[in-house]
Amino acid sequence: MAVILDGRKVSKEIEEEIKAEVSACTKNGHRPPHLVAVLVGEDGASETYVTAKMKACDEVGFKSSMIRYDATVTEEIILAEVDRLNKEEGVDGYIVQLPLPAHISVEKIIDRIDTTKDVDGFTPANFGKIDQEHHSLLPATPMGIIELLKRYVIKTKGKHCVVVGKSHIVGMPMSILLAGPGDATVTLCHIHTKNLAAHTRQADIIIVAVGKPGLITGNMVKEGAVIVDVGTTRVADSSKKSGFALKGDVDFASVEPKASHITPVPGGVGPMTIASLIMNTMIAYKKRMNL
Ligand code: NAD
Repeated sequence: MAVILDGRKVSKEIEEEIKAEVSACTKNGHRPPHLVAVLVGEDGASETYVTAKMKACDEVGFKSSMIRYDATVTEEIILAEVDRLNKEEGVDGYIVQLPLPAHISVEKIIDRIDTTKDVDGFTPANFGKIDQEHHSLLPATPMGIIELLKRYVIKTKGKHCVVVGKSHIVGMPMSILLAGPGDATVTLCHIHTKNLAAHTRQADIIIVAVGKPGLITGNMVKEGAVIVDVGTTRVADSSKKSGFALKGDVDFASVEPKASHITPVPGGVGPMTIASLIMNTMIAYKKRMNL
């Protein structure tokens, strides 16, 4: 039976560590760290993610604020909000929750974010430093995955890691982190990869971030592989109060018996992404306050 990589448990441990740090700072007379989330439109999943992020802030003693805009808001207004947050002294970090409505350019918004407040680690300047020893703010999901592997003492050095999905927020930075600081041999697969199974079958560690429930099945995985499932797709489920269930990209039933370690969905990577956001905000805060 595979060891479950329990992101919920590990994120709680991280939150306890940060809570103690925040408490020490405020006892010394400093203000608490402040994270702001900008939410545009009424996307159900985004709403859930932002609420969970705000809740985590409360739990560790951060100040948190949510700024909401209607889906019809103009790009100029969001850019002006970004400029305001960049200047606001009492804000240590902020996120603009993705996805944004189609008429707003994600690229333009991200380019404008002050790199010292970029706690999602999406700006080109922070992205460009991913493989540096003294990196700054790392993209939250890959950072959370590396932390989860570390806490379960899963080494990446010399391992063959296969990353499936090459998005700017997960797959691509994940592959750089693994090949760079992680010293792994990395294969990066995506929609145009021919014979995906031939690659995944060679992997010591598979990290899949695609958004296609059940894409990775037992026959695509070698015995003893470590499986990290980033996928979170809402699938209709009348047995749930919410009317939907969250499904990963891994067919858990057929993959788990072959894996040495595996993340569940939910409760694996998701909570670790939030923990990374909290860690990044703490890093940004300490730099801002010269602590
Ligand atoms: P995306 O939607 O931007 O891109 C998907 C990637 O998958 C692309 O690179 C594409 O080439 C690749 N792909 C599509 N079909 C494929 C196939 N059949 N075989 C191989 N590759 C294929 O990706 P994203 O924004 O990284 O999101 C991926 C999934 O991860 C989604 O389910 C998303 O909800 C989830 N996600 C979860 C977290 C978390 O914290 N748990 C964070 C970010 C994203």
